[in-house]
Amino acid sequence: MGILLLALDLHSHSGYSGGVGKISLKKIKESMDKKGIDVFGTGDCLHPFWLNKLMSNLIEVKEGIFALSPKDNKYFILQTEIVLTAPITKNRRKSVHTVLLFPSFSTAEKVINLFRNYGVKNTIGRPFVTFQSTEEVSDFLFTLKAIDPLITIFPAHIMTPDGIFGSNNPITYLEDFFGEYTENIKLLETGLSADPEMLEKIPQCRERNYISNSDCHSHAIHRIGREFTLVEVDEISYPAIVKALEGNGIVSTYEFNPREGKFYASGHRKGKYNHPQHFYTEDSENLICPHCKKPYTKGVKHRIEELSKAQKLNIPIKKERKFKRIIPLVEVIAHGLNVKTLTSKRVISIYEKIVEIAGSEVALWLKSIDFIEKELSPFLDDKLLKTIISVHKGEFTFDPPGFDGEYGKLKIFV
Ligand SMILES: [Zn+2]
Ligand SMILES: [Zn+2]
Ligand SMILES: [Zn+2]
Repeated sequence: MGILLLALDLHSHSGYSGGVGKISLKKIKESMDKKGIDVFGTGDCLHPFWLNKLMSNLIEVKEGIFALSPKDNKYFILQTEIVLTAPITKNRRKSVHTVLLFPSFSTAEKVINLFRNYGVKNTIGRPFVTFQSTEEVSDFLFTLKAIDPLITIFPAHIMTPDGIFGSNNPITYLEDFFGEYTENIKLLETGLSADPEMLEKIPQCRERNYISNSDCHSHAIHRIGREFTLVEVDEISYPAIVKALEGNGIVSTYEFNPREGKFYASGHRKGKYNHPQHFYTEDSENLICPHCKKPYTKGVKHRIEELSKAQKLNIPIKKERKFKRIIPLVEVIAHGLNVKTLTSKRVISIYEKIVEIAGSEVALWLKSIDFIEKELSPFLDDKLLKTIISVHKGEFTFDPPGFDGEYGKLKIFV
C-alpha cells in the first residue's frame, strides 16, 4: 500500500457551542471539498443532540473513520473539546482547554457515562470537568485511557489565556497541571496565537509534536481548515492517523501568522482608558506604558519568553519542524481586490475558479509558483495574481501586530 497524504482539521465546534448558527454535516462536507480538508473533527461529539445527529448521519467507512456516504472521500473523526479546571494554589484555579478524539461511538458513550460520575453537564458543547486537585486531573486522564487506549488527548491552543501555557493563572511546567499524566502528552495544539517557531523557545514543547487545527465554529470556507495539519499515513484509519500525529507522520502544519492574533505583542490600545493612540512593544524589557505608567496587557510573545527562561530544562531543539504560514484564500482575494466583504459575489466567483483549477485550497498551497503563474494568469488580474504568489511565498506580515485585543493589520508585499 502506498503513502497517503491527508489534510487534517481535528478541532471544531457544532452549533451547540453557543452563539453560532446552524451547522450541518452536509455543509461541512461541501466546505471540506473546496478547502481540501480530508479528515475533520466533528466537534462537540458528547453533546446529546449533536451526538444523535452524528449517529444518524455518519457511517463508519474505515476503522474509527466516518463519512456521510460510503463513496465519500471526505471523512470525520469523533471529537470534542472539554475544559479541565483544578486549583493550582490555595486560591487560584486554572482552566485548561483540552481536545479529545474517540475511536468509536461506543467509546464516546462510555465517556459520557464517566462524565456523569464527575457531575459534568453535557448540555453545553464544550463541557467543564471540575477537580479538587491536579492529582485528580491526572487520575481522570488515566481513567479515560483505561476506557480505551485509543482515546487521544491533547491540550488545545496552548498559548491562549485558557490554554495550558496561557496567561490566565500561569503555570511553568506541564506537570503543574497535568501531574503524572504529563509524559503521555505527545501532542500540543499550536492554536491561532502561536506557531512552531515561537513554541520551539519553550523547552517542554521541543520534545513534543505540534498539531494545528481551525477550532472553527462555522462551516464557512474562511473558517474550516484555516489552520490544518498534513500527515503521511499508509492507510486511512483512526489508529493510523493517531500514530502519525504522535509519532513521525507529520509532514507540516499550516499556521496563521501569530502576529495577527489579538494578544501577540504587549500594549494598551487606543481608546482604552482614554489612550489617545496605540502604545505597544514587541520586546520584553520595558512593559510599562509611557502614557498611563501602568503595566501593559501582556502578549503571547512575552509569555513565551517568560516560559523559555522559567523552564529549567536542558532540552535541545532536535526536530526540524516544517510549517507554512497561510491566510484563508477568500481573505487573500478580498485583500487583492480591495474588497471588505469576504462573501461578495466577485470574491466567491474568483475563489471557486481558483479551487476548480488547483483542485482545492489546500492543493493550491501545495502547487509550485510556476503552476500558479501559468494556470491562474489567464483569468486573474496582475495585482491579484501577485498577491496570491506573495502569500504562497510567505511574503506578508501583520504590522502593527495584534495587541491588547486589537487584531494585527495585514500587509502583503506585492
Ligand atoms: Zn478552546
Ligand atoms: Zn475549541
Ligand atoms: Zn497605558
